[in-house]
Amino acid sequence: MNTEIQQSSSTTYPGASNGSKASNGSARASAVAAVTGYKSSHPPMNFQEIPTGDLFNANVFSTKVMKKRLPKEIYKKLIRTIEEGEKLDCSTADVVASAIKDWAIEKGATHYAHVFYPLTGSTAEKHDSFLTPDGDGGAIAEFSGSQLIQGEPDGSSFPTGGIRATFEARGYTIWDVTSPAYILENSNGVTLCIPTAFVSWTGEALDKKTPVLRSMQALNTQAQRILNLFGHADGNLVSSTAGPEQEYFLVDRNFYYARPDLLNAGRTLFGAKPPKGQEFDDHYFGAIPDRVLAFMFEAERELFKLGIPIKTRHNEVAPGQFEIAPLFESANIATDHQQLLMTTLRRTAEKHGMVCLTHEKPFAGLNGSGKHVNWSMGSASQGNLLNPGETPHKNAQFLLFCAAVIRAVHKHQGVLRSVVASAGNDHRLGANEAPPAIISVFLGDQLTDVFEQIKMGGANSSIPRGTLTVGADVLPPLPKDAGDRNRTSPFAFTGNRFEFRAVGSNQSIAGPLVAMNTIVADSLDFCATRLEEATGGDPKKLHSELQKLLTEIMNEHGAIVFNGDGYSDEWHAEAEKRGLLNLKTTVDALPALQTPEAKELFTKYEVLSERELASRHEIYLEQYIMSISVELNLTIKMAKTMIFPAVIRYQSELVSNCANLKMLGYDFDTLTLDHVTDLVKTLQDSIGELELAATECESDDMVAEANHCCNVLLPLMNKVRSVADELEGIVADDLWPLPTYQEMLFIK
Ligand code: ADP
Ligand code: MG
Repeated sequence: MNTEIQQSSSTTYPGASNGSKASNGSARASAVAAVTGYKSSHPPMNFQEIPTGDLFNANVFSTKVMKKRLPKEIYKKLIRTIEEGEKLDCSTADVVASAIKDWAIEKGATHYAHVFYPLTGSTAEKHDSFLTPDGDGGAIAEFSGSQLIQGEPDGSSFPTGGIRATFEARGYTIWDVTSPAYILENSNGVTLCIPTAFVSWTGEALDKKTPVLRSMQALNTQAQRILNLFGHADGNLVSSTAGPEQEYFLVDRNFYYARPDLLNAGRTLFGAKPPKGQEFDDHYFGAIPDRVLAFMFEAERELFKLGIPIKTRHNEVAPGQFEIAPLFESANIATDHQQLLMTTLRRTAEKHGMVCLTHEKPFAGLNGSGKHVNWSMGSASQGNLLNPGETPHKNAQFLLFCAAVIRAVHKHQGVLRSVVASAGNDHRLGANEAPPAIISVFLGDQLTDVFEQIKMGGANSSIPRGTLTVGADVLPPLPKDAGDRNRTSPFAFTGNRFEFRAVGSNQSIAGPLVAMNTIVADSLDFCATRLEEATGGDPKKLHSELQKLLTEIMNEHGAIVFNGDGYSDEWHAEAEKRGLLNLKTTVDALPALQTPEAKELFTKYEVLSERELASRHEIYLEQYIMSISVELNLTIKMAKTMIFPAVIRYQSELVSNCANLKMLGYDFDTLTLDHVTDLVKTLQDSIGELELAATECESDDMVAEANHCCNVLLPLMNKVRSVADELEGIVADDLWPLPTYQEMLFIK
């Protein structure tokens, strides 16, 4: 047992002498004072001068700008690449570069940045100046096609999972023409940002974007085969679409900086349950507080300028929790925009004296934050391929695409679970506020009924949607949705798309999108191959062969469909009976990326090579270990240097109080002192235990290390926390060093 912390039994503990309130100049007290006296120094926006609607795409090198500024031929070529996936021709780059440069410089840009998305899940930028000395004592702005197309950031410190050793550190950024370039404004200058892929010298993907693009290509290839069978050989690109809903918390920056845990881990590692939490549901969809609304208006305006089509905002369930959602876009653009959205929320929050927390579980005992990723696929001519129409049982093409998704999710549950695995999301999944760690598909009444009929041999009817009548004559009757919602399902059909609800609020949506695109490509491939063979090219045979195929798919994979309460214990038992995976933690889930099936899946569709897949497994494991290690260090440091000293100050006050009373001859009991003394001992012991355990696994084997984090360190950290949280309810409030949950969540 580690006994490094010596409990002082005398009253001479520094800062606690004479039982004075020596700690009262605490960061907490100043934070509370600053927050309650908050006055915005941020100038209000002049939203009437240029209405936000007029600003949409103002800072984007959009197709409209391209059309205006590029020679017709070049413009057409570029559009063919963007809209039809045609190979990009290098000779056009110089012309485009010069047009982008002129446009950016007119907007005040002096620098350009290749923006890329390393495997950390964050956004990275390398900035270069347009300006070069002209040899005559001045400087000129230059930007060539090759500078547009390719960059070489050093980037050797980004994790590569063994793909590239530092001695062979060449990594390239490559212009992604399908994601528009944009201008980022700062009060002191303007930068042209160019979204890029980030690859190694060998062409291997070191980033999140490259696999998204590859998986979209795979999905298109296989979807075209299905559309061909249905006689839709128009060749229009089938794109996967994504609409991510982002949940987040806002806290005042003064509290944030008074909490080392928020500052370094993004979540609170200590903090007793506040007297009032979210039980009244009075925050949910409530009136948005003024200061928050000011932040939202500004953030949305900035996002609008960047071409991000923000649509929805509201208060979420927990106090201090909010949501923002854009309209859906092509998966690749939606992914880039999602990253930019998180950055913009953080930047704008700062201007309003707040910090935007995107961690999945900033506050224990309150709802965590997710990022529901709405996903579908469609083409210009076919529209949304997951649109069932009024009578889904007659919509053979829809049924096939939908069944392909069901098969994909069942067959690759492990992969879907692994792409949402992270240390942060572990606090959320399966905790009765977010979907369980068991992946299942919610279809709703109407589709479930249709697919049940299909299981029995064929569907002949669809339950009609009906009309919603409310019983008050002044309210108009409404057409009813075909099915209700299910908030407990990780993968829910919501009318014309699937909503992957298990994604964490801090995660890049790239991983989930790559997984969905690839597993569905695999299913579509399976279906196309079967139907092509069975019909021998005879369209008349399609209907009967399709019927057989759908019945087979539903019989083999229907076990993944579950419309009930995903939070219930019965579901856990039932899921086990059905043979579904229940991968509770990151450590349980990540191995799904290394199974022979996963390797075959990703290599077959050329989305990730075995080495690229292995590198992701390694990096995600490493990130998990690093996150827990930071939390471990913070737990120990805060417990020893903030909580323990406060507690023994209080204890010495109690001691001197008892001594004084005794001296005066009072008869009293020492109940509080005894209780505090017990807890001090438990606190000390649990810190000691944690410190010891921290030294116990110095293995080179990352899997062993991750297991140690999950099964040994986290429970011990929780033990330290639970004693500290109990003490928070006893120790004199003026001595408690950390802003409390009550303060952080309710003082606005
Ligand atoms: P809710 O909270 O009711 O689930 P929101 O309006 O917050 O719905 O978000 C729904 C998201 O789904 C939006 O981003 C919307 O654009 C997106 N969405 C709608 N249709 C599609 C589609 N075909 N593909 C992908 N996303 C879609
Ligand atoms: Mg929503």
